[in-house]
Amino acid sequence: MEGALPLTGALLLQSPNYRGRKQLPESLRATYREGFYNEYMQRVFQYLGEQGVRPRDLRVVYESIPLSPGMGKMLQFVAKQGSCFEVILISDANTFGVESALRAAGHQGLFRRIFSNPSGPDARGLLALQPFHSHSCARCPANTCKHKVLSDYLRKRAHDRLHFERLSYVGDGANDFCPMGLLAGGDVAFPRRGYPMHRLIQEAQKAEPSSFHASVVPWENATEVRLHLQQVLKTC
Ligand SMILES: [Zn+2]
Repeated sequence: MEGALPLTGALLLQSPNYRGRKQLPESLRATYREGFYNEYMQRVFQYLGEQGVRPRDLRVVYESIPLSPGMGKMLQFVAKQGSCFEVILISDANTFGVESALRAAGHQGLFRRIFSNPSGPDARGLLALQPFHSHSCARCPANTCKHKVLSDYLRKRAHDRLHFERLSYVGDGANDFCPMGLLAGGDVAFPRRGYPMHRLIQEAQKAEPSSFHASVVPWENATEVRLHLQQVLKTC
């Protein structure tokens, strides 16, 4: 659903409703810079709007994005466990896209909170995108630091007198590494095998083995995450 690639143009080309629509112009694609995905997508949305693409058209595209392998069944499993899990989603994509995709897949109700870059129709009715927040983390893109999002959330829940027994963090992107600093012994990091989050964890473990206290369970199919959570639940 997200990533460091300018996906929306390619997805529009794949969407049956957009057969024949031309690819994003090279002059626009060439403006993409690593670490500035949000700014790039703001320009993509603006361009698409000028070409006549409306939010409802983009919704169809987002609704057609498949979940990662095994993710649907994993989310169904978590939903069945009721209050054993509190589930939030932190995405560097955008609220419009994330909520469209989750609603279409029937999983939106599982998430207590969805944190993503705000997006929705502007005064002209075109889809506009904004940064999620500002932060002082030097490692993360200017629009989002998932460490800050998660730490703010945990602080708020602690204020609500809610104590979590352990954290389980499922991710894949480079921006999923920063929040690893919040995981302690007993917590579990689930990096998608071969993706940037997995590589960064491996590099950190190699550089300073004692710096990483959480268990690391790489996955290719989210069934592996589900099976691990089932084991955890036996002690829930
Ligand atoms: Zn950060």
